[in-house]
Amino acid sequence: MSGLNAAQREAVHYLDGPCLVLAGAGSGKTRVITQKIAYLIQQRGFEPKHIAAVTFTNKAAAEMRERIAKLLDGAVLSTPGKEGRKVPVNQLTVCTFHSLGVQILRQEAEHVGLKPQFSIMDSDDCFSMIQEQLGTTDKALIRKIQNTISLWKNAMLTPDQAAAAAEDVDQHQAAIVYRSYVATLHAYQAVDFDDLIRLPAELFARNEQVREKWQNRLRYLLVDEYQDTNACQYQLLKLIAGQRAAFTAVGDDDQAIYGWRGATLENLAQLQVDFPKLHVVKLEQNYRSTVRILTAANNVIANNPKLFEKKLWSEHGMGDTITVVGANDEEHEAESVVFRLSAHKFERRAQFRDYAVLYRGNFQARIFEQILRRERIPYVLSGGQSFFDKAEIKDICAYLRLIANADDDPAFIRAVTTPRRGVGNATLEVLGAYAGQSKVSLFEAVYMGGIEARLSPRQLEPLRAFCDFLQRLTDRAAKDPANVLIDELMEGIHYESYLYDAHDDRAAQSKWQNVLEFLEWLKRKGTKAAVEGEEETGYDTANGLADEGRNLLKLIQTVALMSMLEGKEDDPDAVRLSTVHASKGLEYPHVFLVGCEEGIMPHRGSEDAPADDARIEEERRLMYVAITRAQRSLHLSWCRKRKRARETVVCEASRFIPEMVLDEAPPPTKEEAPMTPKDRMAALKALLGGGA
Ligand code: ATP
Ligand code: MG
Repeated sequence: MSGLNAAQREAVHYLDGPCLVLAGAGSGKTRVITQKIAYLIQQRGFEPKHIAAVTFTNKAAAEMRERIAKLLDGAVLSTPGKEGRKVPVNQLTVCTFHSLGVQILRQEAEHVGLKPQFSIMDSDDCFSMIQEQLGTTDKALIRKIQNTISLWKNAMLTPDQAAAAAEDVDQHQAAIVYRSYVATLHAYQAVDFDDLIRLPAELFARNEQVREKWQNRLRYLLVDEYQDTNACQYQLLKLIAGQRAAFTAVGDDDQAIYGWRGATLENLAQLQVDFPKLHVVKLEQNYRSTVRILTAANNVIANNPKLFEKKLWSEHGMGDTITVVGANDEEHEAESVVFRLSAHKFERRAQFRDYAVLYRGNFQARIFEQILRRERIPYVLSGGQSFFDKAEIKDICAYLRLIANADDDPAFIRAVTTPRRGVGNATLEVLGAYAGQSKVSLFEAVYMGGIEARLSPRQLEPLRAFCDFLQRLTDRAAKDPANVLIDELMEGIHYESYLYDAHDDRAAQSKWQNVLEFLEWLKRKGTKAAVEGEEETGYDTANGLADEGRNLLKLIQTVALMSMLEGKEDDPDAVRLSTVHASKGLEYPHVFLVGCEEGIMPHRGSEDAPADDARIEEERRLMYVAITRAQRSLHLSWCRKRKRARETVVCEASRFIPEMVLDEAPPPTKEEAPMTPKDRMAALKALLGGGA
C-alpha cells in the first residue's frame, strides 16, 4: 500500500459497505481504484473475475488496465485454496459502461430477444433510420427527435410510456418515431449505444435469475468518474451491486461534463438515499499539477456555485508560468502552437507523447492535423470520430457487421452497393419491398422463392453471389481465426480497385492507406483477444467458453464501441490531439489548450439549449477539466478572428481566462505577424542551433 496518503488508504481499505470518494482533479481517485483492486486480490481473497472496474472512455480503461497489470506484476492470489497462484489479471473486468453492457448482452442475448452477434448502430446509422422513417431531410428535426428518443431511453421509458407522457405535438411525433425505431432496430437485430446500458438494466430489473448470476460474478464494483453516470448507468450499477452493495465510486462534481449539474446533484443525492450507509471519503492533496496550474483551476471553478467544499493543494512548487497567446486566426494559432510546442520539446528534452493539444470541438482539430503533418510531427487523434467515421472504414465495417449479423439491413445496403457489383437501386427497392412484406431481412429475402418472381435472373444473380460469399465467411466465423477471415474478405471484395475506380488516384491512395491501417489494427486487436481469451474480461475463458474463432464476431462489436468516444487506443510517441471531453481522467506533462474564445469555450450553445447560466457552469467545469489535465506546463491560446460557415467573425478571449487570475504580467498585446512557414522553420532551426 505504498504511494497512498492516509485518506486514500482509508478509501482503499474500507470494505464495510458502499464507499464514495468525492475529491477534486488529480487527487488520486483513479489511483484509489487501481490500488483497491490490488488490495482486494492480494489482501482480501477476491478473485480477479469477481471484480469489475468501470470507467468512461476506452482510453481511460486501457490506462487503468495497464496500471493494474503493473501493480499486480508477479503478484499471487490470496483466495483460500488458491493461495500462491499467479494472479490472472486478464480475468478482471476493466472497461467502459458500454463495453460491460456489450458483454452482458452478448451472454444474455436470448433474454432480450437478440442473437449474440447483434449489430451496434452508431449515431449516424440511427440518424439515417429516423430520417427514413420521417421521410424528411430536415436535419435539425431529425437530430431533435434522435435526442428525445435517447433521453427517453436513458430514463428507461418504453415507447408506450413515452407516448402516454408526451405533452405536445412534437413529443407525440417523437413517440411515434420512437415506436418504429425500436421495432426497426429489433428487426435488424441491432442495438444503439443507449441500449447497451438500458437493455441489461431492464433485464436485471425483471429477471431475478439472471441478475443473481451477475451479482455473483461481479462481487465488487469500482466506478470511476461517477459524477457523469446517467440514470440508466446508475440503475445498472445498483442492480449489479444488489443487497451486498459492495462498491466504491469515485468522482468530482466539478468535473461533471456530460449533463446538467442537476443530474449530478440528483445522482449524488440518490446514492445517499439508496445507500444510507454510504461512507464518504474526501481527498485534498493534488499530485498531478504545479501550484500555478492548480491555482488557475481552483480560481476558475470558484465562479461556479459549490456543491461540496473542496480544498486542493499541491507540493509540486509554483512551476512554469501559464502562457496566453492571442492569435490572428485559426491558422496562425495552429502555426504558433506547433512552433512553440517544437521549441518547448527541444528545450525540455521532452518527447512528443508528453504533449496534448486540447480543444472544445472536433472541428478545431483539422487545422492542427494539417500543420503537424506538414511539419512531420507525429500525432494521434482521439475524441473525434474522424478515423472510424471515414467512409472507407465504415464500408469495411459494414461487411464485418453483415458477416456477424445477416439481419443488419443497413450494413447489407452499404456493403452490397460498395462496390456496386451490378446491383442497381431498382433491384434494391424490389428486394426491400419484398423483404418488408415477408418480414425478413434483405439477406434472407435474397434466398426466398418469392423473389424469383420479382427479379430477373440477371438481377438476382449478383445478389446471390454476394450473399453466398458472405455466408461462406459467416459459416467459418465461429471457428477460423479472425485474421484469415479478414484477408479472405478483402480479397473477395476488390475494395482497393473500387477505390481507384471511384476516386482520383491521390484520394484513392490515401483511403486505401486508411483501410490498411484499420485492418492492421483490427488484426492486432484480434490476435490480442485470442491470446487473452477475451478482450476485456476472462469470463469466457473462466467458463470454458473461450472460443478464439468467435473473436471476429466479438471484434466487430469492439470496433463499434471504439468509434463511440474516441479513436484507436494505440500509444506511440506522438502529440495527442483530443477534445477536452475525451481527455477526462488523463494527464499530460504539457498541455496546449486552444480556441479559448467566447462562443467556443464557453460554447455558445444551440437553439435548443442556449448558453444560460447552467450551460455556462457546465462549460466552466469543462474548462476546469482541461486545465487540470496539465502536470507541468499549460499554454492557452485564442483567435481574434475565426472562419465560421465561410464567414469570418471577430472573436473575444474567453471569460475563463481572466477568471484564472494569472499572476503574471498581461500577455503582450502586440499583434503577432503571422509567420510564413519559411520564417518559422528558420526560427526553429536557429533555436535548435542548426541541428535537430
Ligand atoms: P481526475 O480527477 O483527473 O480523474 P484523479 O483524482 O483520478 O484525477 P489520479 O489520476 O488517480 O487522480 O492521480 C493523479 C496523479 O497523481 C497520477 O499521476 C497519480 O499516479 C498520482 N498520485 C495519486 N496519488 C498519489 C500518491 N499518494 N502519491 C504519489 N502520487 C500520487
Ligand atoms: Mg481519475
